[in-house]
Amino acid sequence: MHISLNGWRVTHIVGIFTGLALITVKFRLNHLLPRNCVLCDTDCAGAIDLCEHCLPTLAWNTHCCSRCALPISSAYPACPACSTFDFDCAVVPLRFETEVARLVQRLKFNNGRVEARILGQILLAAVTARYANARWPELIVPVPLSATRLRRRGYNQAILLASQIARKHRIPIIRHAIRRRHRPPQQTLTAAERATNLVGSFTTTRTFGGTLAIVDDVLTTGATVNELSRLLLARGASEIHVWCAARAPLEAIARGEV
Ligand SMILES: [Zn+2]
Ligand SMILES: [Zn+2]
Repeated sequence: MHISLNGWRVTHIVGIFTGLALITVKFRLNHLLPRNCVLCDTDCAGAIDLCEHCLPTLAWNTHCCSRCALPISSAYPACPACSTFDFDCAVVPLRFETEVARLVQRLKFNNGRVEARILGQILLAAVTARYANARWPELIVPVPLSATRLRRRGYNQAILLASQIARKHRIPIIRHAIRRRHRPPQQTLTAAERATNLVGSFTTTRTFGGTLAIVDDVLTTGATVNELSRLLLARGASEIHVWCAARAPLEAIARGEV
């Protein structure tokens, strides 16, 4: 798998900022309320609670694998992650590091509704730019949580992100048709245990067709999304696209930080 550095991705980052600017203008006209940046607390009056300094200085995922969006440098001759993936492509606008990691942690563990809107609008702008001249997936599949984890957390962060895209582009979303068995978190396991931990963790009784988009907050090793991709392909999907807010750099995965 060859790596496409920039190419359409630079174009799409420009598209993301244009999209976010339009959302901000619309929000200001509609609400005219002062807002504070969630990262530095200065006034921002924007639609997504990030000021004009913090938004552009986020860890944007501009240099990445064109298929799996792994942040990567031009020194690599080929992506070290792609060969094991069953999904077809990934749209991931941010890297999971520094302030982006803070936003994701709050989204997952602090009932982060504001962070859900920030990351959801950034992901929405990224996919809107990506599919400006391409055929959209017919169905959105947020990665489900197990019943145990959903009960503990009270919400599924993937649905919070996915529903913003589904609403804007009028794409149906799957909320209940896929079940996830409760398994230990991957970070707590050895490499050997990780390899088998996720096998068979998703089940469904329905069939699918056409292109589907899987949505999650963070793409780490890709094992979870890939397991879900395998199920959807086995149940009739022809192509799987992956949309995530942030992609973990290989070095962070190797250090066990994510
Ligand atoms: Zn700020
Ligand atoms: Zn790749």
